[in-house]
Amino acid sequence: MIPLMNVARQHQRIKEELDAAALEVLASGQYIMGVKVRVFEEAFADYIGAKYAVAVGNGTDALVIALEALGIQAGDEVIVPGMSFFSTAEAVSRLGGKPVFIDIHADDHTLDESLIRSAITKRTKAIIPVHLYGYCANMNAILDIACEFGLPVVEDAAQAAGAQVDGHMAGSMGDIGCFSFFPTKNLGCAGDGGMITTNDEALARKCRAYRVHGSGLDGQFTWQVLHGAGDLEPVDFKGHLPKYFNFVIGHNSRLDELQAALLHAKLSHLSAWNNRRREIADIYSRNINNPAFAKPVEAKGRCHVYYTYVLMTEHRDDFREYMKEKGIGTGVYFPVPLHLQKVYEELGYRPGDLPNSEAIADYSVSIPMFPELTDQEIETVVDAVNLWEV
Ligand SMILES: *Cc1c(COP(=O)(O)O)cnc(C)c1O
Repeated sequence: MIPLMNVARQHQRIKEELDAAALEVLASGQYIMGVKVRVFEEAFADYIGAKYAVAVGNGTDALVIALEALGIQAGDEVIVPGMSFFSTAEAVSRLGGKPVFIDIHADDHTLDESLIRSAITKRTKAIIPVHLYGYCANMNAILDIACEFGLPVVEDAAQAAGAQVDGHMAGSMGDIGCFSFFPTKNLGCAGDGGMITTNDEALARKCRAYRVHGSGLDGQFTWQVLHGAGDLEPVDFKGHLPKYFNFVIGHNSRLDELQAALLHAKLSHLSAWNNRRREIADIYSRNINNPAFAKPVEAKGRCHVYYTYVLMTEHRDDFREYMKEKGIGTGVYFPVPLHLQKVYEELGYRPGDLPNSEAIADYSVSIPMFPELTDQEIETVVDAVNLWEV
């Protein structure tokens, strides 16, 4: 059996390091928002090339808190691609905003920048490009349009830790970057985790406030900004812990010390893992020659980190059945485009509105991709794909 993804093999390879990191946290008695989280935030910001990193409970919360920090509220519109994991749109809706779905490019599956202008209204408050499958959206073009209209850009980099555009890391180019450390992501923990990156100190402070109940000095800062109160004297906490003084309604969305310690240990391997993913993708792309499939594309200067390797075929479901019989795992990311999800029925989108997003739902299929795949397994996958007859 060759699995689609497998995180246990990764653990096996660096077991001593991870076990030691976990045991150290267990023995420390410090489990929430301690030194491990702070140190990992600094290391991650450094890796991404952003000034600030704010660790949160998961990637979905990263998006919600990022949008909240940007001031997104009820009635605001946010431009979102028609194909992504549900969180991208859900974060907008969670704040009472309205996701405005636009289509993606047929070849690289990222937000089609040529459709942004006509989707902008006077209620538009942000744009969320998604670096789908580990490949960055056309950030240069998107940032130009955003700048022209004065709109902030939130990068959904949940699938793209380490991906780049012209040497700039995903999550460092827009106003805010959002990451998920769900176990199977390129950088994954042993549970849930997420991160927000930004170069804007005020945004970082707001995110820190919303992460923990709008409390403490960051909470006070956020209150001051929201009320146009300028620089007030810090409140007198009267010797009590600042975290018991609340200024805005926030969340409980912290990263555990345990996860931070594991993630920090894994961060030093991320570049090597991404290189191996790229090597595997290169072998697939050079050797898969079955005309039934369209393969991933990669433009000059845009470094793909292959969270997943996606083929497109009109006979997807038959192909998956065939691969299953051969003992090879496949997956579909994702079977329903966002604009056609039942929950968004009331927004009034119809099949055919976003054809490229819908094509992924119907025709895309992921084949095994994770750094620990063996050369023998890669060859077996290539042979199986090439031998398949429609
Ligand atoms: C995984 C993912 C998320 C959500 O992250 P969680 O940690 O599962 O909440 C958001 N957006 C995209 C594109 C994702 O792939």
